[in-house]
Amino acid sequence: MEIACLDLEGVLIPEIWISFAEKTGISELKLTTRDIPDYDVLMKHRLKLLDEHKLGLNEIQEVIATMKPLEGALEFIGWLKENFQFAILSDTYYEFAAPFMKQFGWPMLLCHKLDVANDGRIVDYKLRQKDPKRQSVKAFHSLNYRVIAAGDSYNDTSMLSEADAGILFHAPENVIKEFPQFPSVHTFEALKQEFIKASVRDLR
Ligand SMILES: [Mg+2]
Repeated sequence: MEIACLDLEGVLIPEIWISFAEKTGISELKLTTRDIPDYDVLMKHRLKLLDEHKLGLNEIQEVIATMKPLEGALEFIGWLKENFQFAILSDTYYEFAAPFMKQFGWPMLLCHKLDVANDGRIVDYKLRQKDPKRQSVKAFHSLNYRVIAAGDSYNDTSMLSEADAGILFHAPENVIKEFPQFPSVHTFEALKQEFIKASVRDLR
């Protein structure tokens, strides 16, 4: 039994905060953990900016609903679902991912949750657990699934290491250099071939 685990942002959809910053023109929302390494500080800063611009969950979801998955992502997910059990392991929030999950046919998504007030204001955020992607792979192993995982960035590397096979997809050059143990591909066709190679079954 094999389960395919995919990261979401950068793999199936654009980076949500960056796209959102571009759509709203609030360039400070483009800051990532590369600019502010402490995730808590970064998230508090983002929530403060949203408050200042009077953007609540409804406005954010409206903007996110206009974003499109990466080209070829829908077809790739279709192939993956026919051949594997499938889960998306992400560091986003259910509330942000929902418009994309609708387009993907509501696959299993393990991520984090926002704390939203009745008026739509985002009050806080709840991280599900520490090192959630690795923990999810461990949990699937405990259920006797063989895990093949793909992701694009540093926050995926513990998932890729824990999996039976890990694949870098759309990864930047520094990540590819730092983790030469993982095959690295940049197109969905090549990613499909890597999943076929990594599988113990005879897929096509
Ligand atoms: Mg990513």
